[in-house]
Amino acid sequence: MKVYFKELTLSTSKRLELVDITHEVERAVMKSGIRNGICIIHAPHATAAIIANEHESGLMRDILTKVEEEYPRNGKWLHNRIDDNAAAHLGSAFISSTRIFPIREGRLIRGTWQNIFLLEMDGPRSYRRIVIEVMGE
Ligand code: ZN
Repeated sequence: MKVYFKELTLSTSKRLELVDITHEVERAVMKSGIRNGICIIHAPHATAAIIANEHESGLMRDILTKVEEEYPRNGKWLHNRIDDNAAAHLGSAFISSTRIFPIREGRLIRGTWQNIFLLEMDGPRSYRRIVIEVMGE
């Protein structure tokens, strides 16, 4: 089995934001040379998540509205006593900071309307990492 590792770094400009990383993930899969296997996309952060869905501006705003609704910034969260970002931690915990995609014939298997995004929930941040690990043969 082959393992290919790639780390992306990026900055975010808003508290809540979606950053499309589909091209970078697909480039990593291509560079890996792996034909069949899996691709793990992981954000090693406690206040961000990785999601997959359509890159359409209205829907992207809807997703952020839903995140705000589910994890309101001004909720009575205990963590806010020390850090003021409990909502972002909750979003990361429940939405998940990791996604896995299958790879077949050298291509990431995803729906036409299934782009891959970093979901920033505690921005702006000058330094966010995304780890892409491709495993297979
Ligand atoms: Zn915190």
